[in-house]
Amino acid sequence: MRILIAGGGPAGLTLAACLHKHGIDSVVVEKGPKGRTGGYSIGLHLNGWNVAERLGLIDAFRAQAMPLGPALHRDSQGRKLFSYDYRTLAKASGGRMLAVMRDRFQDIMTRHVETEVDIRYETTVAAIDDDGAGVDVTFSDGSMERFDLVVGADGYRSNLRSLVFGPHEAFLRPLGYRASAWRITLDAPLGASFVGMMDVDHQGGLYDIGDGHAATLFCWRDDRSDRLSSEERRQVLAQEFGGWPEPVRSALKASIDWDTAFFDTVCQIEMPKWAKGRVVLLGDSAWCLTFLAGQGTSTAMAGAHILAAELARKPYAEAFEAYEARLRPLVEKMQAVSRKIGGHYIPQSRFGMRLQAWVLPVLLSKPFARLAARQFSAPELDLDL
Ligand SMILES: Cc1cc2nc3c(=O)[nH]c(=O)nc-3n(C[C@H](O)[C@H](O)[C@H](O)COP(=O)(O)OP(=O)(O)OC[C@H]3O[C@@H](n4cnc5c(N)ncnc54)[C@H](O)[C@@H]3O)c2cc1C
Repeated sequence: MRILIAGGGPAGLTLAACLHKHGIDSVVVEKGPKGRTGGYSIGLHLNGWNVAERLGLIDAFRAQAMPLGPALHRDSQGRKLFSYDYRTLAKASGGRMLAVMRDRFQDIMTRHVETEVDIRYETTVAAIDDDGAGVDVTFSDGSMERFDLVVGADGYRSNLRSLVFGPHEAFLRPLGYRASAWRITLDAPLGASFVGMMDVDHQGGLYDIGDGHAATLFCWRDDRSDRLSSEERRQVLAQEFGGWPEPVRSALKASIDWDTAFFDTVCQIEMPKWAKGRVVLLGDSAWCLTFLAGQGTSTAMAGAHILAAELARKPYAEAFEAYEARLRPLVEKMQAVSRKIGGHYIPQSRFGMRLQAWVLPVLLSKPFARLAARQFSAPELDLDL
């Protein structure tokens, strides 16, 4: 069996690694160039951790993990609201939690698979024809190849999904926010693992990623979903967060590489089915949980592990069914969590801000952290198929 994977992100590369473990060949086509740097921070939680352990990669991820320590939250005038410690949360999660920059994640996974898997960079799928016995694929360079199966792992604005399942609008569910994230060089130490600031309808913050750098994450209430130029993005960020004190002020002044930075509407993907014929979707392209759930990477990795294991032991149509049946309950739970969290994370009023300042430190303190971790994290999937 030979499988084409469109998209070399967390879902695609993990799938290539898991398929290889089962002796199944795959080709990965990735739109971006090799060794792309920058991006934002992503978390490895229970299910992702378990997959990384099975791939023998947990030490590599640990070595690249961002420092965990205190998180300080202020209002948009710089006045302290509350604080907590990420280490308490990590402990409450049984120690199986870490955060890593996306480019380092990509680097670890790429090194793990590149000698065994054919990865083609700056390549996309231009056309696809599933004739029932196989799938003919035309690539962006004009070349054609036939595969047994095709997996779309090309993110929430999936090109493969639109070629096979229909236009984006049919599946994108905007949550009413926009978000932006990029990397900066720090002028002065942050003094904490995370410094967050908030105002009504706004949340912004910087994560210390070590070596004098920080990863930013800004989110604000905004119903529009039009695509903006770099200049327009800058203007929107200045309009929404201009006037906020350090460290936000410096983050807004820094130069931003928009090839790797994130700026988009926060959208979930809702699909009645993840497979059609010999094509199946995986990760954000199938279910995007959004960063509000904090589980997108881990769920993509767990999905890859399960899909590979099912394909190794069942005919493809049964494998697709089994994969979806095992993943869908978790996905629907985490999409609901993400919608719920959004309404609190981006406070809707001064009262909402005060409530958050009161509730979060209690919820994330030692006596309650385990309960909070259980409430908001994804249930552990059985990966021993
Ligand atoms: C700002 C931000 C913060 C986040 N924080 C967290 C977090 O803390 N924890 C967490 O678990 N998750 C987080 N997430 C979510 C997480 O990044 C995603 O859930 C995860 O990356 C999904 O992986 P994926 O491989 O399915 O999709 P993606 O990460 O989107 O990867 C898709 C890949 O496909 C490539 N591609 C795109 N189009 C094509 C094409 N036409 N052909 C070929 N290749 C293509 C892309 O270049 C990319 O490499 C965050 C997301 C954002 C935006």
